[in-house]
Amino acid sequence: MKKRLKQEPVPAERQETVRRQIIRLLEGRTLSARDISTDVRISEREVFGHLEHIRKTINRDEQKFLVTPSVCGKCNFVFRKRDRLKKPGKCPVCRSGLIQEPLFSITGSSES
Ligand SMILES: [Zn+2]
Repeated sequence: MKKRLKQEPVPAERQETVRRQIIRLLEGRTLSARDISTDVRISEREVFGHLEHIRKTINRDEQKFLVTPSVCGKCNFVFRKRDRLKKPGKCPVCRSGLIQEPLFSITGSSES
């Protein structure tokens, strides 16, 4: 059991609702964290938190969490091995900061 932090801003139930909202948004669609943050009206930082959680938990169902990796806008280097979901700051090859955001999607259906 996790202990509730003193200053936790959002109740757990609300987090659950947001998570389900994000899953629904990503079903059959490919969106960036920014798209999700606009739609669900939470910060991108929060979106990444939820995405991490969804990525860890989603495979229990018949659904799959897909990440389209970031791509360097200058030399087209693909950040395939990147484990974190956030957009990388700089390209390791050409040092460009013009990085295309990673995109997220969920395949399969939650319908039973
Ligand atoms: Zn590059």
